Amino acid sequence: MILTKIFALNDNYIWILYNINNFCIIIDPGVSHLVIKKIQEKKWNPVAILLTHNHIDHVGGVKNILKAYSNIIVFGPEETKKFGATRIVKNGDKIRLLDKEINVFFTPGHTLGHISYYLKPYIFSGDTLFSGGCGRVFKDRFADMYQSINFIKSLPKNTFLCCSHEYTLSNLIFSLSILPFDRKIKNYYKNIKKVLLLKKGSLPVAINIERKINIFLRTRENEIKEAIGLGYEKSGFEVFVELRKRKDCFNWS
Ligand SMILES: [Zn+2]
Repeated sequence: MILTKIFALNDNYIWILYNINNFCIIIDPGVSHLVIKKIQEKKWNPVAILLTHNHIDHVGGVKNILKAYSNIIVFGPEETKKFGATRIVKNGDKIRLLDKEINVFFTPGHTLGHISYYLKPYIFSGDTLFSGGCGRVFKDRFADMYQSINFIKSLPKNTFLCCSHEYTLSNLIFSLSILPFDRKIKNYYKNIKKVLLLKKGSLPVAINIERKINIFLRTRENEIKEAIGLGYEKSGFEVFVELRKRKDCFNWS
């Protein structure tokens, strides 16, 4: 399977997997026109859509894509039913598509029913883990989000994170406001600035890199506890909650 991406809306990614026989799978189509255009250009046959959660910038394109390609199966969690999901999937399910196995994992925190899809070596994590950061936590589900991002962290180190937004630069700026002297984050920030100037996008990124540059995955480190004024006895989860709350009101522009 070959991975490609479409930039959509302000900062969304729509991921597409296709094979040499020109069949394809679309992940989180927030819009339809760009997806249909690409499919027509490439002469692909879409077989499935995978949805991670029910936000409109992830599901907004489903109905129009289905009008154009009515045979597509739409996989998604229960919360995406009213947006066109025809095959409801849950944690532990295995989907067999185009001779590949896709594992479904429950990754709540951003929404109550958020799921991620793992097709080795890719994890389609929607709005759970971002490069350098993580999704917003709604309905106070901090414990869920902490567990979800740490689950993604635990995937093999050569897994590629395919999340749904290009937030990397703002996430790194926030991280540097916390850890201004962290060499790994500083170097990565410089590198990403160059990549973004070339309009390539910073994703996908290896989990191995995220473990080093994503402060939300490093919340047990004393350096971070110290930087945000928490004692060493505080848990990784408590540090996570503090960081996430600070990020919510961080103005980087
Ligand atoms: Zn969302």
